[in-house]
Amino acid sequence: MIYEYIRALTEYAVNAGLVQEEDRCYTINRLLEALGLEEYEEPQRAEAELSPGGAVAEKLATAEKLATAEKLAIAGELASSSALASTEELTSAEELAAGGRPAEGKLEDILKGILDYAADKGLLKSNSIVYRDLFDTKIMGLLIPPPSQVIKNFYNRYEENPKKATEYYYKLSQDSDYIRRYRIGKDMKWVTRTDYGDIDITINLSKPEKDPKAIAEAKLKKQSGYPKCLLCVENEGYAGRVDHPARQNHRIIPISINGQDFGFQYSPYVYYNEHCIVLNREHTPMKVDKEAFQKLFDFVKLFPHYFIGSNADLPIVGGSILTHDHFQGGNYEFAMAKAPIEKEFKIKGYEKVSAGIVKWPMSVIRLRSDDAAELIELGDYILKTWRNYTDEASFLYAYSDTSGKLLNKQEARERIQAGNADLEPHNTITPIARKNEGVYEFDLVLRNNVTTKEHPLGVYHPHSELHHIKKENIGLIEVMGLAVLPARLKEEMEELRTAILTGRDIGEEEDIYKHKEWMEGFLPKYRDINKENIDSIIQEEIGLVFEKVLEHAGVYKRNEAGQKGFDKFIAQLNKE
Ligand SMILES: [Zn+2]
Repeated sequence: MIYEYIRALTEYAVNAGLVQEEDRCYTINRLLEALGLEEYEEPQRAEAELSPGGAVAEKLATAEKLATAEKLAIAGELASSSALASTEELTSAEELAAGGRPAEGKLEDILKGILDYAADKGLLKSNSIVYRDLFDTKIMGLLIPPPSQVIKNFYNRYEENPKKATEYYYKLSQDSDYIRRYRIGKDMKWVTRTDYGDIDITINLSKPEKDPKAIAEAKLKKQSGYPKCLLCVENEGYAGRVDHPARQNHRIIPISINGQDFGFQYSPYVYYNEHCIVLNREHTPMKVDKEAFQKLFDFVKLFPHYFIGSNADLPIVGGSILTHDHFQGGNYEFAMAKAPIEKEFKIKGYEKVSAGIVKWPMSVIRLRSDDAAELIELGDYILKTWRNYTDEASFLYAYSDTSGKLLNKQEARERIQAGNADLEPHNTITPIARKNEGVYEFDLVLRNNVTTKEHPLGVYHPHSELHHIKKENIGLIEVMGLAVLPARLKEEMEELRTAILTGRDIGEEEDIYKHKEWMEGFLPKYRDINKENIDSIIQEEIGLVFEKVLEHAGVYKRNEAGQKGFDKFIAQLNKE
């Protein structure tokens, strides 16, 4: 049976274009070695596989004959037919790539067969997900061309068209199983209509939960400094270990932005279509400044069909990795990008740039121009003004001292003039750049990370009454209108569903007790709740909670006082 899997995997790799026909025998031999086998017998092909019948097999067989470009077009068409890539589409693309023979089409099944064999023969330290992931990545790594070849393939296509290059690379990143399609397909996704547009919600289920044994073993291990973090270029080809994922199947494309060497890759957890990461080749901290803005627009010039943004560079309002300079982008239009400008204004000295406040729960300034350089200049001016901006009336403080005391405008000015560097900054920006119908757009989301006794996790962060749904940082992706919610919610939703349908009271000792107040708040809105509509009601209500999450994260609230505060900042921009 193991020969059957080896043949199927090789066939998959040849059909997906990972392995060339000339390398077939060589590949089989490398797989044999990894599995501790000394010989190979070509398995007999099943009769059905040799003469495929039926509509599906025929369609797939035809697809196999199509040129690669056409195959990509089909896969692309499938992927763009819905807002977010779903399981079925990915499976279709995978089947197309695999040439459609069902026995060979399901990479997950082939790898499962190989992993079960490996576990049986004692090739895995333990038959758990951590060790299985390490082993199947090693196996997949044997099928992927070396970085130099992938880079050559990428840039050959790039010369023709940047889109062709990213299509090739995105497909490779999935075919190589670096992006595990079958796991991404497990994520729950839906869209909730709000006052600000259609917000995307996802419950992330594709990051594997670690088993207790692996966690215990990781604790015993000496902490390693190689690679320094998950975003370092040294991950490319790395075998991984119990506390760090394997990346033998990972390839990074080198690019140059603002004259600096960066790497371009996709996120293994693709939260949205073609979710990419652009990382500094050096392990150096995140910084939002004029140079970062320059890098964003250099990237948009390289890949005009992608947006790109940066997380803010301060804790609470930033992303999860502040220690490694990186950006995130992709081929996806978020609700924030679609949201209109509700109030236009001009800024002195930048009359050619059209500027406005975006109709969005967070506080966003959108700049538009044909000239990226102008946007970078103006963006830098707004950033610098914002970093030093204090407005007590709006509870916005740019700095606190080392004791944590918030400094008023006068105090902050005096300290800065005296050259007192012991200040803790609170103001920063989440910037997003894109090209929209030929015009450059630059969204600057104003952020502040002040904490108080009442709001120890952040004044402009979801407040405690929303933590039952979302407690984590509101980073770049959330800011743009995609909620990435914790995996625990899946089970809690199921329990909540049962409790609502049976009318059972939720006890204090239960996990879902934290949802009780929220649930009692929304139930009266619905006259008839039944098995058919309960799931969509819960989803809808979660979406509405996320709308509030974004409102909490907005530094200027969407009421009269808030908008007056926002106007005051715009006026300040015209004063200096
Ligand atoms: Zn790093």
